[in-house]
Amino acid sequence: MIEVNSTDNVLDVAIIGAGPGGLCAAHALARLGFSIGVFEQARLLRPIGAALGMGDPGYAALAEIDAELAQQVRLLAVNPKQQILMRPNGEVLFADESPLAGTGFTWLCWYNLQTCLYKALPATVSLHLNHTLIGFTRTSVQGQEQLRLKFRDQEDVCARLLIGADGYNSVVRSITVADGAPLYTGTMTWRGIVKRENLPSLTAPFLESAGFQLVVGEKKNFWIMDAGTELLAWGGTALRLNHSKSSSALETVLQIFEQWPPLVESVIRATEPETIIETGVFDREPVPQWGDLRRVTLLGDAAHPMRPSLGLGTTMAIQDVVALAKVLARTDLGDGEQLGVALRTYEQERIAISAPLQRLARQEGANSHAEDQAERLKEGFSAALAARRQAFQKHFSGE
Ligand SMILES: Cc1cc2nc3c(=O)[nH]c(=O)nc-3n(C[C@H](O)[C@H](O)[C@H](O)COP(=O)(O)OP(=O)(O)OC[C@H]3O[C@@H](n4cnc5c(N)ncnc54)[C@H](O)[C@@H]3O)c2cc1C
Repeated sequence: MIEVNSTDNVLDVAIIGAGPGGLCAAHALARLGFSIGVFEQARLLRPIGAALGMGDPGYAALAEIDAELAQQVRLLAVNPKQQILMRPNGEVLFADESPLAGTGFTWLCWYNLQTCLYKALPATVSLHLNHTLIGFTRTSVQGQEQLRLKFRDQEDVCARLLIGADGYNSVVRSITVADGAPLYTGTMTWRGIVKRENLPSLTAPFLESAGFQLVVGEKKNFWIMDAGTELLAWGGTALRLNHSKSSSALETVLQIFEQWPPLVESVIRATEPETIIETGVFDREPVPQWGDLRRVTLLGDAAHPMRPSLGLGTTMAIQDVVALAKVLARTDLGDGEQLGVALRTYEQERIAISAPLQRLARQEGANSHAEDQAERLKEGFSAALAARRQAFQKHFSGE
């Protein structure tokens, strides 16, 4: 450990990553009075990504951090009303009210969530773009341990606590857990967002209501959803042996879904090509510890990357933040022993919840390209809708 003498410019908390997890952590911990720096590798925050699912548990966790912020986010999101399930040849398997209509579940543009969280950051939080973390060392300042963070082509930063909210390919995790690269699931994904106005000839389920259209083919799927704020989001998946990126995500995704229902090609062509995200789907085995139980921990996808099949990634990240804020609220960051206990408590609580979900998401994800997936979904949607209608009937008939 290096001994240095200055305690100037030491952040209480350095958060790596300005995704939903990192930004929520900045909100929560700033409210506890800590000085916070958020360090994000992106050079600018721009409208990329597609839509993420968030329901009542996610909003409830966000409201614990900031009730007004949770309300603002909900206004950007949309509850699906109509739903269509079809095969690539246009055969419709399900076309009805969405089983999720009237529930607390919403679709929300990833970028809208990021922007909303970013714009509402308190003045005590500094956000540093173009800061890619490459490592950290421990230093001792007047007998107190600190971390010195190293960024690519940027100055070092010192902090008392380091939170890795840097996604499934986390650099922080590569140092604390050192469990190698994330595991490629064999599925590639392409995602984008489109303004409704760029798609003049929309039909059901998007014409007048919030729609969700899912096309399930052989070893590939495509979905389009109303994602709020006059935007449609889309995503496609296909089984691929390797996860190398193609020279043109646009050309690749057009080719993969060639001759699928016309709306598929229309939404892809209406998307700004440079905003299309092409990535592999990855997860990891759950581990018994995320950080060093001293001054470093993880949250969100960095801590428990899981297949998106349960739609819980963002909710889990926000719930991590709430759990972490609760233990840090009773912790003096200057007291290494106290901080160690707090981080252990946080990690044990969240690992007990996230580890089984990581495994379940893996199982569910493996089914998403099964031969009978379209039939299974058809049955699932019909059963869910019937159950919901029955519950309504019971409620209103007073049975
Ligand atoms: C650009 C983008 C678009 C996404 N779109 C969708 C979507 O449409 N639907 C969906 O369900 N999920 C999407 N996700 C994933 C989703 O955000 C997460 O599953 C979930 O919200 C948990 O968020 P997180 O903050 O833990 O991780 P993430 O959202 O992955 O955020 C991690 C952040 O850390 C930054 N970062 C990574 N490494 C470093 C480093 N070394 N130094 C500094 N910064 C670093 C990344 O640039 C990113 O901003 C997207 C993620 C990203 C990064």
